[in-house]
Amino acid sequence: MRNPRMKGPKISMELTINKARLSLVQGDITGQATDAIVNAANSGLMGGGGVDGAIHRAGGPAILEECRRIREKTGRLPAGKAVITTGGKLKAKYVIHTVGPVWQGGTGGEAELLASAYKESLKLAADNGLRSVSFPAISTGAYGYPVESAARVALQTTIDFLGQNQSLREVAFVLFDSYTYRVYTDVLRELMPNMESTR
Ligand code: ADP
Repeated sequence: MRNPRMKGPKISMELTINKARLSLVQGDITGQATDAIVNAANSGLMGGGGVDGAIHRAGGPAILEECRRIREKTGRLPAGKAVITTGGKLKAKYVIHTVGPVWQGGTGGEAELLASAYKESLKLAADNGLRSVSFPAISTGAYGYPVESAARVALQTTIDFLGQNQSLREVAFVLFDSYTYRVYTDVLRELMPNMESTR
């Protein structure tokens, strides 16, 4: 049987919200050329598996070096917060590291913490004068957050932010596998029923 989470062809969907483009892309976030890419980090900021490992491998040691300095100065990064470092060797100039919640059944404030992870990352990008940022599906891998619920939080939080902020011009969601891409597409259509997709 075909694994529904298997990587498939790269497809893309995009909408305009206010002055910004919101797009859904299937692929590897480490190759994104936006001003920043967001890392689904863990509180220790010392790298890990999944997208975190991929970003550090592709970006080289300068990212971890800066994470270590932040960690020494301010300690562990709690869930829902975000910090910014260099992008090292990546095409993106910066990496925004945020920590999503570990799924515990949904009654431990996970939705609020996940919304905060997106909001704090978007705010950090805007505060640093960045125009474009790419997100992975935070918390939906090792942290076990159900993809549909996570997509709802990710997209609604971003739509709300772009409705109020004029400086960001592009937010891309880079979904690694076809299942996650499909769920994000369905949820975005549901949240923005009157929106014409430009692709
Ligand atoms: P978390 O610990 O927040 O759950 P993971 O890295 O385990 O973070 O997974 C988050 C999401 O990132 C998952 O959908 C996973 O498939 C995806 N992912 C893994 N590697 C990449 C990559 N190189 N680019 C984009 N997304 C990725």
